[in-house]
Amino acid sequence: MNRGTLFVISAPSGTGKTTILKQVMAVVPGLSFSISHTTRSPRAGERDGVDYHFVDRDRFVAMREAGAFLEWAEVHGNFYGTSRATVEANLAAGADIILDIDVQGCRQVRATAGDAVSLFVVPPSWQELERRLTGRGTDNEETIRLRLANARKEMADIVDYDYVVVNDLLDSAVATMLAIIHAERSRHRRTAAGAPMQLPAL
Ligand code: 5GP
Repeated sequence: MNRGTLFVISAPSGTGKTTILKQVMAVVPGLSFSISHTTRSPRAGERDGVDYHFVDRDRFVAMREAGAFLEWAEVHGNFYGTSRATVEANLAAGADIILDIDVQGCRQVRATAGDAVSLFVVPPSWQELERRLTGRGTDNEETIRLRLANARKEMADIVDYDYVVVNDLLDSAVATMLAIIHAERSRHRRTAAGAPMQLPAL
């Protein structure tokens, strides 16, 4: 059986990555989502074991020391990490898995898993990103400024990603991401003799 494909998706905050991902996950068979561990507190509506595995700093550090994370990073003052065992189990079983991680994490994955497929979601313009961050109504002006400054830094990593998805209209961003996943699944090396052919739902 062929190993599954490791997909990595990153985006500056406010680009709509989570919304795109939810729609993609709903229609692509055989793709699982890696639930990260984090030390940040759950937001309203978030559930432990569904959105994240919420752990305290001591537990996170103990796991990190034990080598439990494929990659980890500090983002906005909190620790986030990807379970090595979960990713490995999926890939070994021939299942594709997608990581929603920041640019620091993606750099680590690239260094250790050379055949990972990386996608970067961008807003159509800086003005639109600012408008979206302001429109959420959840952050004050200082936080929005900080997020915009972070977005500019993160955007510098874009050249290292395999694909860029512009989130102008949600439907077309979702269609682009589906096309990328289907194209990657159709690569010759992933459908080599002996591997079950996957019929993509277009
Ligand atoms: P949030 O706290 O808003 O859910 O996520 C903040 C940032 O942390 C996002 O850019 C998200 O992609 C990133 N993130 C979430 N999980 C992980 C992880 O396991 N590793 C890394 N490096 N970043 C993560």
